[in-house]
Amino acid sequence: MNRWVYLFSEGSKEQKDLLGGKGANLAEMTKLGLPVPTGFTVTTEACLYYLDHSEQLTDEIKEQVMTAVETLAAKTGKKFDDLENPLLVSVRSGSKFSMPGMMDTVLNLGLNDRTVVALAENSQNERFAYDCYRRLLQMFGNVVMGMDNNDFESRITAVKKAAGLTFDTELTAEHWKQIVTEYKKIYQEKLQREFPQDPIEQLYLAIEAVFGSWNNQRAKTYRRLHDISDDLGTAVNVQEMVFGNFGESSGTGVVFSRNPSVGNSGLFGEYLINAQGEDVVAGVRTPKPIQVLADELPEQFQQLKTICESLEKHYHDMQDVEFTIEREKLFILQTRSGKRTSKAALTILLDFYNEGIIDEKELVSRIEAKDLEAALHPNFDEKALKNRESFLSGLAASPGAATGAAYFTAEAATAAKARGERVILVREETSPEDIEGIAVSEAVITSRGGMTSHAAVVARGMGICSVVGCERLIVSEENKATVGDNLIEEGTILSVNGTSGKIYFGEIPMEEVTNLVALDELHTIWERHAAIKVRANAETPNDIKTGMTLGAVGIGLARTEHMFFEKSRLLQFRQLILADSLAERLEVLDHLKKVQKQDFKFMYEAAKGKATTIRLLDPPLHEFLPKGADECREVAKELGKTFNEVKRKTDNLAEVNPMLGFRGLRLGVAYPEIYQMQAEAIIEAACEVMKETDFVIQPEIMIPFTIDADEFAQVRASIEGAIQTSLEKQKQELDYQIGTMIEIPRACFVADEIAEHADFFSFGTNDLTQMALGLSRDDSPRIVTQYLENGIFKEDPFQVLDESGVGALMKLAIERGRRVNPNLKIGVCGEAAAHPKSITFLNDLAIDYISCSPFRIPQAKMTLAQRAL
Ligand code: PEP
Ligand code: MG
Repeated sequence: MNRWVYLFSEGSKEQKDLLGGKGANLAEMTKLGLPVPTGFTVTTEACLYYLDHSEQLTDEIKEQVMTAVETLAAKTGKKFDDLENPLLVSVRSGSKFSMPGMMDTVLNLGLNDRTVVALAENSQNERFAYDCYRRLLQMFGNVVMGMDNNDFESRITAVKKAAGLTFDTELTAEHWKQIVTEYKKIYQEKLQREFPQDPIEQLYLAIEAVFGSWNNQRAKTYRRLHDISDDLGTAVNVQEMVFGNFGESSGTGVVFSRNPSVGNSGLFGEYLINAQGEDVVAGVRTPKPIQVLADELPEQFQQLKTICESLEKHYHDMQDVEFTIEREKLFILQTRSGKRTSKAALTILLDFYNEGIIDEKELVSRIEAKDLEAALHPNFDEKALKNRESFLSGLAASPGAATGAAYFTAEAATAAKARGERVILVREETSPEDIEGIAVSEAVITSRGGMTSHAAVVARGMGICSVVGCERLIVSEENKATVGDNLIEEGTILSVNGTSGKIYFGEIPMEEVTNLVALDELHTIWERHAAIKVRANAETPNDIKTGMTLGAVGIGLARTEHMFFEKSRLLQFRQLILADSLAERLEVLDHLKKVQKQDFKFMYEAAKGKATTIRLLDPPLHEFLPKGADECREVAKELGKTFNEVKRKTDNLAEVNPMLGFRGLRLGVAYPEIYQMQAEAIIEAACEVMKETDFVIQPEIMIPFTIDADEFAQVRASIEGAIQTSLEKQKQELDYQIGTMIEIPRACFVADEIAEHADFFSFGTNDLTQMALGLSRDDSPRIVTQYLENGIFKEDPFQVLDESGVGALMKLAIERGRRVNPNLKIGVCGEAAAHPKSITFLNDLAIDYISCSPFRIPQAKMTLAQRAL
């Protein structure tokens, strides 16, 4: 016999696969002795079996459900359909991974025409009993029978209107009785059948509905967006009802054990007095902040706080807790790890670590790449923001900043996104059907709902900026919205600040780097674990500063040709490569040396004495040559040459395959004076900075594109000669190193020979991949895409290091290089180096550092630390 049903007292938190997240946690909390209403879980296996067997509950499942109901009856002293003490239950879905709002729930199950009378008598509150009954009729109709919720809601509206009332809370017992009668008529009208009065039948139908809801469209979409397998199924949790709508000493709410937006400690959430479950999340009534409960029901608040703290300690995680207070008695209905923003995720983990809840290893292993990445997302530029007036504000539900065009439906948002627009979704409130629209949006704005409303929770979970509950926003049905006299139409550009809750018309420029407060602390911890260091690929002072802010221990690759991209510099560089004679070249070089020296001084100062690897020029010449006759004419004019001179020289230098042409030290071999100039500038700048500051500068001069030991030795000798002259002129001692890029397969094979002359190696995996695979860096995308589609490549080799080819060459070069020079410093500075998958491979190679673009540094450091655990 298969086991399809588990009492809460029989399960544990480890059984998420079988009992779903909610069921496993209810079992765990029961085990911990927390005040959880009793109940049982019908397993995910039962769901899968049901879905696979013509959607029928088998007798075996039904029998086990019945046995569990009997146990429930014995434990609670209540019975289904009992006229004195009727058992009422909630029926909720709960799959392995939380899918908020995606599947179905039925409350108050067990009520019927008879038990509602008993409930009214027991509670001494007829109004309450009929309100519960109409809720069951409504939820059951909607969720189990597939009826339209509006059919029900419109009856309430009609009754309120007839009675001249505004709020549901003003309706009396008689009103609810009338509504119950009308609801039952709707069943007849719409389904030609009665609402099932038998609680057992209600229960079986509800279980079937929850099982079936695993395959509803919104659940499928949610799974696709969150990479959740379709094969898991959902469990069903059947639990004794407790009532938050029992009057003023009852209530219900949702709290996070810490602030899910920013991560601060202390309870964060909302509750409603005299309300039932869905009222809080539905955003229909505006809930009160949880701190108010400390005044309204201080004892229960304190108990809730203590429970949340103990749950955090037990689970080592921030919890999202649903609770209900029934006549002053607190019950916990659910706990799960709370969805949070990326910033909050980092802050919480660090606080847990500092509070001793988790140890350093757990801290390192639990930080997720996506959180780090998202925490680095730009915010609005503060200065730009100062001059702007917001026209609307609401609750800052999910931080970040975004600009985009307003759209009012998920469909319109999706279509606009497909046209390439950045989209801001503007809604009265969102529902799970909007999930696709939210996913494509840069930001979500709603006019209703609180911090735990659907829009807030989903946007926060997805890391999408969101402002909810903008009360002055009136969203009309004609794809328009107004705020006072302001009109928002489809396509109106809005800027949304999810951190302050303010909304602006028009675009606002973004800030460049967000410095995470916690990042410094994390860097120290990561560095303790990872042997491999991380440097920055950066050459401009700005990039270097960003790199340092984001944790670089130095600069691993300063591409000096990138210092010539700016317009005025470009001309000087062109003058250099178009020079006809040595004399002319020397004249340009003389000027360039001054410029470069200044560049290097800025670099050293920005790097504050940290390691700096400066690569001598490696210009693929075609990037710098004038293109076409017009540009030649312009350059000729600017350089005081004739058109013919420039054109002839340009044609002469043009290459059919420039990536394999006159690059790197080939330039240094042909025109030693160019590299000499750079070496002198590097050394003289270092000497000057050392005189002017306390920094100790030890430049690492890197020669690109080496293929041969003699080639390298010649260039080294040539620049060392220049360096010696410079040092003598400066009358200063300076430690420097001269090393090489290893980025051509031949260099890997003769790495032992090169290592005799080189102080360090740095693998350029961009070129090494290009040449090892014979795939042009410029033209690879089309081929790579095809190869990925055909399954020939598992990953783009320019993004993830090709272990068996390029990786094998690297291993060989390291082994040969270190055989000759055991202290040879080795780095990797191509794009693929920072990819987490590459890092897994590089971690075993005994290299000293990787170097990558500044924004990738934190993730690279984190991954290195994680792999080293
Ligand atoms: C490389 O080839 O990997 C490298 C870092 O140099 P570049 O990208 O400048 O050729
Ligand atoms: Mg290269």
